[in-house]
This record gives sequence, C-alpha cells and structure tokens, in this order.
Amino acid sequence: MIYVTQRKIIIIGAGIAGLTAGCYLQKHGFETEIYELHNLPGGCVTSWKRKDYTIDGSIHGLVGSSPDHPMYDLWDEIIDMKNLEIFDGEEVVIITRDKKRFIKYYNLEKLEKYMKEISPEDSPIIEDYIKDIRKLQKMDAFSIIAGKPMEFYNIFDYLKMVKLLPALKIMQKWQKITAEEFSKMFKHPFIKEAVRSFLSPVLFEILVFTEMDLKRSGFPVGGSLNFSKQFERRYLELGGKIHYKSKVTKINTTYDEKNKKDKVTGITLENREYISTDIVISAMDGYSTLFELLDGQYLYEKLSKVYNKADLNPSMILISVGVNKEYKDESQTFFINLEKPFKTPDGNVFDLLKLRIFNFETPLVPVGKTLFIVELSTRNFEYWRELRAKNRVEYKKIKTEIASQIIDMLNDHFENLKENVDMIDVATPATFHRYTNNWQGSTQGWANENLFENKPIKKELPNLANFFMIGHWTVPGGGVPNAFMSGRTVAQIICKQEKKKF
Ligand SMILES: Cc1cc2nc3c(=O)[nH]c(=O)nc-3n(C[C@H](O)[C@H](O)[C@H](O)COP(=O)(O)OP(=O)(O)OC[C@H]3O[C@@H](n4cnc5c(N)ncnc54)[C@H](O)[C@@H]3O)c2cc1C
Repeated sequence: MIYVTQRKIIIIGAGIAGLTAGCYLQKHGFETEIYELHNLPGGCVTSWKRKDYTIDGSIHGLVGSSPDHPMYDLWDEIIDMKNLEIFDGEEVVIITRDKKRFIKYYNLEKLEKYMKEISPEDSPIIEDYIKDIRKLQKMDAFSIIAGKPMEFYNIFDYLKMVKLLPALKIMQKWQKITAEEFSKMFKHPFIKEAVRSFLSPVLFEILVFTEMDLKRSGFPVGGSLNFSKQFERRYLELGGKIHYKSKVTKINTTYDEKNKKDKVTGITLENREYISTDIVISAMDGYSTLFELLDGQYLYEKLSKVYNKADLNPSMILISVGVNKEYKDESQTFFINLEKPFKTPDGNVFDLLKLRIFNFETPLVPVGKTLFIVELSTRNFEYWRELRAKNRVEYKKIKTEIASQIIDMLNDHFENLKENVDMIDVATPATFHRYTNNWQGSTQGWANENLFENKPIKKELPNLANFFMIGHWTVPGGGVPNAFMSGRTVAQIICKQEKKKF
C-alpha cells in the first residue's frame, strides 16, 4: 500500500543510487522528485547508439543475477528479475606475448584440471588457490552482509560477523599478493606468463571467481541503459517525478535555531530556479556536492582527508569497434599481452589490452556483426579535459589515431577484422565527465585498494540537517550493487527518522 506523508524529498541525480532511493521512498509514502543533469536515467549505467550498434558503458557482470544469490531478491524488490535476460560467460582468454592462449575457465573444476594438465608440478599452488575460492563460496559472506546495512547493526549483528573472520583471513591473504608475485609462485613458464595478467591483487580475481563459477554475476543481455530504464519505469509507476536536463548548482541552507545548526531549505538549478524542499539527497558526484553545491562549508576532518587523498578509481578511454563479421567461436573476454607496449598521448603505457567481445545474441549488436570494446584505464583526466576544451580538432584526431592503433592490434588476433570495420567510437575521460559529472571522470568513485580500512562514508553531515549523500562516492570501491545498496539504506534511515516501518 502506498500512503503519502507531507515531507518532500528532492534527490539530485537519476543514477542507480538516486533512482533506488526514489523507488523505496515512494514505496514508503514519501513525495520525491529527482533532478537530473542529463536527458536519460542511469548515470554511469548507460549505453549509446552508433550506427546500428549499441555501445554498452557499464555493467560487465551484475552481482546477484541468479536467484540463489542474496542480492537477487533485493534487485527484485525494484525490477522484475525474472524478465531480466542474463548471459553468463564461460571463460576469459589470456593471450600471452608469444600469442599462445591460456583459458581461464570460470568453472573451478575445469580450471583446476586444465592448469594441472599444463603443469602437474604446480599442483600444490593450483590446489591452494582453488581451495580458497571454494572456502569463500561456502562461507557466502553476501548472505550475512546483504539486507541489513551497517548503519543499523546491533551487538548480535556484530557477533554474526564473527562468522566472517575465516573469510576475512583468506581475503587478507590474497589482498597482499599481486599478480606478478603470484606468477612467480608457479614453475611452468606458460602459466607464469598467463598469471601475470590476472587481476591484481589476486583477491580481486578470487572475488570474481567466487561468483562467476556459480553463474551469479551475468551480463544483462539488454545492456546497461535498458537496466537503468527499468529503475526509471518503476520509479515513475510509484508516482515519482524526474526533471531531466536540470543541473543543480546549489543546495540552499539556513541556520535552524531549534537544532542549533544549519538545515537544508531547497536547491537552485542552473537556470536560477529555486525549489524548496524538506530533505535533499545528493546521489550525484561527491566532490561537486561538497565543494561546489555546498561551497565546502560542511566538511568534517575525516571527510576532508578522504577528498585530499583523492584515491580515485581511474577513468577510461573506451574504444568500440563494430565489425561486419561474425566471431561466434571466440570468448567474450580477452586479456591481450602486447609484444610492444602501447603509449597513449596522455602519458600512459599499456602492455595489456582488456577486451570485451559482443558476439552472443543481444539486441545491442546487429545480426551477423560483432562489437569489440577495449578499455584503457587512465588517471590523466586533465589532459583529456583540456584537449577537448582547447582544440576539438586535435581531440578528434587523437581519438581517431588511438582507434586505428587498437584496430591494428586486434587485427593481429582476429581474422579479417580490419577490412570489416564499419563503426568506430572513442569515449574519453572528458566524455565520462561530461555525461555523469563524476570527479576526474572516475568510473566508480573511490578506489578499493584499501578494502579493509575504508568503511562506508557517513551518509549525513554532522553540521547540516535534512541532508544525505549516497552513491558510489559513499562506498569505497563503488559499482552498481554498492550504489543500489546506498539508495536502499538511505530510505531505511529516513523511514527510521520519520518513524515508519521499512
Ligand atoms: C565504463 C564503465 C564501466 C563500469 N563497469 C562496471 C561494472 O562492470 N560493474 C559495476 O558494478 N560497476 C561498473 N561501473 C561503475 C558503476 O556504473 C557506478 O559505480 C555506479 O553506476 C554509480 O552509480 P551512482 O548512482 O552512484 O552514480 P552515477 O551513475 O554517477 O549517477 C549520478 C547521476 O547524477 C547526475 N548528476 C551529476 N551532477 C549533477 C548535477 N549537478 N545536477 C543534477 N544531476 C547531476 C549524473 O548525470 C548522473 O546521472 C562502471 C562504470 C563505467 C563508467
């Protein structure tokens, strides 16, 4: 049943965090409106059309895509998971510098057998690695963590966390080992070479495998924008309102005598329109929220430290190549070791290409064709921002040059690719910033290298009442599930404050 209260809530940003908060708050009787800079929902979780291809910008694998994962029921509270078609990949192919292919099977049994066949003498380390992944699968940390946010933990919840200690021990062990160090533990030269391209630290590799082996983190076949549109549809069905092309430039505040601190009174849009409200939830970029919309007035020491450290997830150069040819027998994910390192004009040097191939049945790619997407991480946002701002011709030229070099590299591994190219698209950190306003074009907010040090960042500011912050800037590591959970959690917090059952 939907019942309406008088408290009006404005949400800034129609990314997954903002839409999720909006859905849960509408469900619990609040009147909410979302103000969104772009003309589409989803923020980072988006896709865009080029010729007859749809380029997918975000979700590689949706954690909780299968009903036996605890996240599945949470997604299902908002979108209809039964109708979300999922594709589960079987493996990652690592191409070594001498062009040999190592198959990293997601199926652990297959992987163990394959690696031992290549190198029986490496059996002890292979077994240790697989055994730890299986242990983590059995402990199923997600089922303990999902559902109840840490903000609501009581003594019994912390006691339940004790059960996670063995899992934490395993995670800490692999957190300390880089792919390079892991590779040195093997004797066989081919495995050594392949393992160098594992995710680093090896913990990330292990976390991916715990889910991929169980087929619980598949790709939504309709793509990222389609996924976001399902959140938008649900929000509108619940009575929410979205104002697109509405950039918020200020969060207005005033001193509240009763509470002896400032409180939020409304927001101001780029066109200077002022909208009053009781509560503001910022589900947009953290840096602009704190330093621009709130003028840097409400930072506290710990938060200032986090923003000064600026330990961000990198941005990306995303090169998409449409090819008028089928590559049905290829896998969907490749890590290609390059014979010669590849330099990009922003000062990065790459010896590894991360490639996704859309060669399965999906509405994103026309029948008979294939889409290749290469991801190059970069932290040099300034280079791209300045180049685009000062010299658009040169910016386009550099994008074309990068694409042409990438096509040559792909052509070395995929037959007749170059002669069949019929679409090229290059998105840079400037693109990601323009469309999502994320600080330095970061694709996922804070980096998660400090996985065990950084707790979630508080959703409230001590000196400002009626204000909340959610989204990937409030959870180290970022990503779609964290954005979703932060939106769900803020609704729980507001319900509690307003004495409503969640
Ligand atoms: C290329 C790419 C690949 C990724 N791959 C994965 C993946 O495989 N798995 C995974 O889990 N995550 C992935 N991510 C990260 C994930 O998409 C994000 O962490 C997550 O979607 C963040 O959601 P959010 O709602 O917190 O923020 P955002 O998506 O950034 O949404 C914020 C919204 O606020 C709007 N906004 C900003 N400023 C204003 C303003 N002043 N006024 C009004 N509106 C404003 C923006 O336009 C945007 O719509 C990827 C991201 C990218 C870009």
